[in-house]
Amino acid sequence: TVRTRFAPSPTGFLHLGSLRTALFNYLWAKKCNGEFIVRLEDTDQKRKVNNSEQSIYDLLQTFGLQWDEGPITGGPFGPYEQSKRLHIYSEYISKLLASGKAYKYYDECSTLSPKTDKTPYVVRFCSQEGATSFVDTVYGKITIKNNTPKVLSDDFVILKSDGYPTYHFANVVDDHLMGVTHVIRGEEWIPSTPKHIQLYKAFQWQPPTYSHIPLLTNPDGSKLSKRQNDAHVTSLLERGFEPMAILNFLALMGWSSRQKSDIIPLPQLLEVFSIDRLTKGSCIVALEKLQFLNKHYLRERMTDPVQLDQIVEEMQKGLKKKYPNSLSRISDSAYVRRCLLLLHNRIRTLPEFIDLCAYFFEDPLQNTIHHKLTSTTNVPMLLSRLLHDLQACSWQSLTLQTVLKDTSSAFGLPLGKLQSLIRQILCGSIPGANLADTIHILGRDTTLHRIEAYKK
Ligand code: GLU
Repeated sequence: TVRTRFAPSPTGFLHLGSLRTALFNYLWAKKCNGEFIVRLEDTDQKRKVNNSEQSIYDLLQTFGLQWDEGPITGGPFGPYEQSKRLHIYSEYISKLLASGKAYKYYDECSTLSPKTDKTPYVVRFCSQEGATSFVDTVYGKITIKNNTPKVLSDDFVILKSDGYPTYHFANVVDDHLMGVTHVIRGEEWIPSTPKHIQLYKAFQWQPPTYSHIPLLTNPDGSKLSKRQNDAHVTSLLERGFEPMAILNFLALMGWSSRQKSDIIPLPQLLEVFSIDRLTKGSCIVALEKLQFLNKHYLRERMTDPVQLDQIVEEMQKGLKKKYPNSLSRISDSAYVRRCLLLLHNRIRTLPEFIDLCAYFFEDPLQNTIHHKLTSTTNVPMLLSRLLHDLQACSWQSLTLQTVLKDTSSAFGLPLGKLQSLIRQILCGSIPGANLADTIHILGRDTTLHRIEAYKK
């Protein structure tokens, strides 16, 4: 059976590229009815950031990438944290030492004084001369020359002086012991792979199938650095991107879907994903694409009444911060829901709603209004008539639309021009949805009040 793994190092926040690696490994395992493993690679004690493993696990769960074996859940090949497997590595180090395929190496300073049991050393692997080749499903056959003549640095370290194995060693031993069949990982690991292959040979183990995927880049081709906001999964979530939109977005990078649409939800990804369509083309992180996908997934989420309630609640929190003088309106969840449903076609992320709905919670500034009505139009008279009709009419979008129409024809104005003036009076400079619907939600009191305030 197919067994894949995601092997994060707890060195900080989850990077977008790492999430894509996790996704592809998850998809391939699930597609093949296999197992998806999470393994924490925490052997580099210096680079370890406290608690970052917990945030990685939490995020994987937020994205629904549930592992079959790994930290927290356990499994038959645990422990799944490398720092808890030191006894296993030392057993395999001993095997290589005994067969002469590795040797203890004392650094220069320590060779000056006589060696004792306490003298620090590292274990180096006796690398092979010549070249190492392997077949990658994405890049084809890759051959990397070992240095000739062999230099000391070819004999790479497998056990550090602090007693922890290096990444190369622990990675190979664990992939073998955990029965990993396919390794999908970033192309930055290609130069390391010959070391891994040599270790597999030394143990006479079968290496897994490798698929290296191209790095994510900025639109200018530069590396999507870990410092940039767009590169952090958490920061994208904070900016209101839906988990499913992010997954869909990542699936389109480094994998050619051959689907008619770019919108491929997780259940469909699970059906159509395949490692033989991983590609080495460039993977530009274009936020416009993510915004497009987000708009789709957001709207879909809003069609589910339970999800919609959740979104309304979430929006109420944001609105309270932004419009602290409008708390009673904000606490009216039916009102917030109506605003959201009116504007949902105009937003790509939920935080955009908070800005776009300003006029539903605060009176707009009057001084920004500049209408384009001809000088012959008697604006005060027009507004008086409108106020009069709005006071009397039934409060329904259709009736309100008729009132607007009648007013414009009574004053010989195109409807659009009248609407533009009224929209500015009611909404300020923010472009909005259908005016009659907007007036309907604003309510009679607020509408009359804002028009009166402008007339003065
Ligand atoms: N621990 C490595 C990382 O943080 C894993 C690399 C691999 O998949 O072999 O990316």
